[in-house]
Amino acid sequence: MTRHIVTVPGDGIGPDVTREAIATLRKAAMAFGVEITTEEHLIGGASLDTFGVPIREDVLQAAAKADAVFLGAVGGPAWDAQPAALRPEMGLLALRKALGLYINLRPVAVIDELADASTLKREVIAGTDMLVVRELTGGLYFGEPKRIDAIEGGGERAIDTMVYTTAEIRRIAHAAFKAARLRRKRVTSVDKANILATSQLWRRVATDVAVDYPDVALDHMLVDNCAMQLVRQPTSFDVILTENMFGDILSDEAAMLTGSIGMLPSASLGDGPGLYEPVHGSAPDIAGRDIANPIAAIASAALLLRYSFGMEDAAAAVESAIRTVLSQGYRCADVRLGATSVIGTAEMGQRIRAAL
Ligand code: NAD
Repeated sequence: MTRHIVTVPGDGIGPDVTREAIATLRKAAMAFGVEITTEEHLIGGASLDTFGVPIREDVLQAAAKADAVFLGAVGGPAWDAQPAALRPEMGLLALRKALGLYINLRPVAVIDELADASTLKREVIAGTDMLVVRELTGGLYFGEPKRIDAIEGGGERAIDTMVYTTAEIRRIAHAAFKAARLRRKRVTSVDKANILATSQLWRRVATDVAVDYPDVALDHMLVDNCAMQLVRQPTSFDVILTENMFGDILSDEAAMLTGSIGMLPSASLGDGPGLYEPVHGSAPDIAGRDIANPIAAIASAALLLRYSFGMEDAAAAVESAIRTVLSQGYRCADVRLGATSVIGTAEMGQRIRAAL
């Protein structure tokens, strides 16, 4: 069987880490009888420099036709002075929109060897393994009206609108329950149902969708309590299901449990091809120097195998290879702690592939 991936390595360390992720993906898929073909395109600053736009229409079309899309990172100081419509990030936003991505998945697992790199105590975070499922296209960030008006006689008045429909909540809830079935079968739906009407609807719809998944347990938690429980007892979570803004904030909070941004993968899904990318940015300060940590990108490739290709065994093999190399004492420069040997981007990729 053959699967086709569009890669958009982008700027800064994007190409460095994408190279290692795709090589690892190829090897893991091949071990399970799937051949990967790839097609590379420009996005972000790289596309601006060559074509004058942050992403071209034909790249969006190629992405929509692929089986999955892999992104490195976009942006950097070279393009900071660009007008808003011609900033590198616009390429990423256009891609997300073209693919209709309404689900964002961020797994947060504390790897035992790195537990001391977190700002929280080892005994609190050890064993943490959760998945944040965030709604990506609705809620306060997109609701209308959204504007700032002048008030007659002085001052201004700003308004944002938080809006959700049953259909929007239903489809993200299904995504969370399906993801929970691949894990420990527990969903915590996070809302502010004691105050917000959108949250009251959210809670009702989540409860309704749960009926289709009798093997998955559902509980509800208020967002303020969730923020507290994430640092108090993060091991109590399996899947967190939440709306756009709560998910934005909680997923960054959860991310910090692991200690390093160079370790965190993400997946964004819709009804077509999924988009996989490391959580970190383009890190221009270390670009092209073979020191970026490729693990977030390689772990994103594992998510691609799991969620776009349904290859759970291959995904688990990649994740296990990452843990093996870390347990051997190899680290990149961003997480030196506990290292017996600090290695570069390419060597980290090679060692993970050798451990597959
Ligand atoms: P950043 O994530 O690029 O870097 C933050 C810090 O973490 C830097 O010190 C960097 O060296 C380090 N770092 C990040 N990834 C690393 C890795 N894999 N290995 C080792 N160290 C790593 O965030 P920033 O500095 O705020 O942003 C830099 C550029 O990236 C900006 O132009 C920003 O707009 C862009 N950005 C892009 C994305 C994206 O493409 N999705 C996300 C965030 C930021």
